[in-house]
Amino acid sequence: MRPDSTADGDRSATYAGGVFLLFGFGTKHEDLGPGAVRACPRCGNTSQWARVRQFRQFTVFFVPVARWGRRQLEICGICGAAVEL
Ligand SMILES: [Zn+2]
Repeated sequence: MRPDSTADGDRSATYAGGVFLLFGFGTKHEDLGPGAVRACPRCGNTSQWARVRQFRQFTVFFVPVARWGRRQLEICGICGAAVEL
């Protein structure tokens, strides 16, 4: 796991048939480095955007067991607006 990756989402713990399960859903962003220099449609600034890969994942005991919904985004470094590539 990369130190710059972030996770948000709920983590849940439950007892199912006496077996303790710790699982969670989250959306992860993986930093892919600098993106294109472009004018932002939201804040109007022209700057270098950051390119990220976003995906949803399901974890059991903090180990990812499924990933889906993968897409690449570029994010404005000033206001955080995201554009799907
Ligand atoms: Zn912006």
